[in-house]
Amino acid sequence: MEWVVKLEAKSGWGEVETIEVGKIERRVVGLTADEVGLTLAEGKELLGELGRLVLQTQMEEYTTCARVCPECMKMRKQRDCRTRKVQTLFGTITVDAPRISVCPCMNTWGFLDVSTSPLAELLPDRCTPEMRRLQAELSAKHSYRETARLLAMLLPCEPPNHATMRNRTHRVAAELESQAAAQPNVDAGPNRDAEMIVFIDGAHIRAAPGYQTRHIDVTVGKVEVSGRPPRRFAFAAKGAVSPLAGIRQALQERGWQPGSSVTVLSDGEAALPGLIRAAVREPVTCILDWWHISMRVQHIEQALRGVYALEPRHQAGLDMVAYRIGRLRHLIWNGYHSEAHDELIGLRHMTSEVAHLNGEKFRPKVARLLWNCDDLRRYLANSTASLIDYGARYRSKLPISTSRAEGCVDEIANTRMAKKQRMRWSPQGAHRISVVRAAVLDGRLKVSAELACAA
Ligand SMILES: [Zn+2]
Repeated sequence: MEWVVKLEAKSGWGEVETIEVGKIERRVVGLTADEVGLTLAEGKELLGELGRLVLQTQMEEYTTCARVCPECMKMRKQRDCRTRKVQTLFGTITVDAPRISVCPCMNTWGFLDVSTSPLAELLPDRCTPEMRRLQAELSAKHSYRETARLLAMLLPCEPPNHATMRNRTHRVAAELESQAAAQPNVDAGPNRDAEMIVFIDGAHIRAAPGYQTRHIDVTVGKVEVSGRPPRRFAFAAKGAVSPLAGIRQALQERGWQPGSSVTVLSDGEAALPGLIRAAVREPVTCILDWWHISMRVQHIEQALRGVYALEPRHQAGLDMVAYRIGRLRHLIWNGYHSEAHDELIGLRHMTSEVAHLNGEKFRPKVARLLWNCDDLRRYLANSTASLIDYGARYRSKLPISTSRAEGCVDEIANTRMAKKQRMRWSPQGAHRISVVRAAVLDGRLKVSAELACAA
């Protein structure tokens, strides 16, 4: 059997032209499984040819129409017959890109020889925006080399070079940032009085040699307002031009205005809520994440099990320690923080007593328990202002944990830049990948494409 694929092109002035795109042939006798249906190679070839024909005929019409002078409606003179290569998802296509002389009605000086190229104005970087966005989206998830390989495998585009992938991704990131700076998409939304919660967390990634640092800090966050999809933001402070502008932009897009209250949930690191405070230039409510406290209590409980495993002769003292550790979690959860502090001091004395009564071999395990108690005490003391009644907040169905921000760290920083990836990053490279990845996860990269088409 034989199939012929034809394209019927109808111009704006009603001229119809039929062009053959390609042919597919199959034998009946001796047909193998590999020949069933359309193959990837044939599909790529047909798509490539179709893409070429559509672009070339489209540009023919476009440049012809562009010759009409918008002032006097006369045809302008075509100055020369150049060609230009345009990179599209369906291949690199050569199209006619004639230069057009400026109309005498506009060129009042007469002696000046000025011309314009309509195609160069339309696609200044010789690449369709869709292609750049797709390359950036894939590059934010996979390595530049892998992205180039995937694209070449599935699409009839010429095998792209990994350096091109990197440059395009960086450009898309720069565009996302400049869009944010130029016209903040302020959206008050339906519930202006809803609590605005910012989860913020950080990740360390390996720095490339030559940056006077071993690690680059990537800060990742999520803005949540009930009834709205979350808005992610990410940046590497060392590689960003203005990291605070990115945070401010994310907050504004979810309805933040000067004077609105913002709650920041983070682990004990004081610098993270400080970033939000600096971005909004107002005080914010900080909450120490419950998950990080709970983990430290769990370490104490583990250390206690370690002491029990040694089978102490004098158990009564140790049982008392166990009872007080059980109480500790309840005290912190219900907001009795100074009582929790006293309990930790009391535990210190009782635990030392256990070691004294049971002999020398208990000393290392008890020291471990003591260290964990001191660690929790220091952790709570450093963040006294951010401790709350977690139970009450939990019962009001408000978030008490940054677990959702931790997910965000995985999605943005760890998938592409985690230590196991064996890649080293420049601060700027890490920053730009984070910006693109956050936009991809929010669906912002696609939204801008739809807007461009509608316009
Ligand atoms: Zn004119």
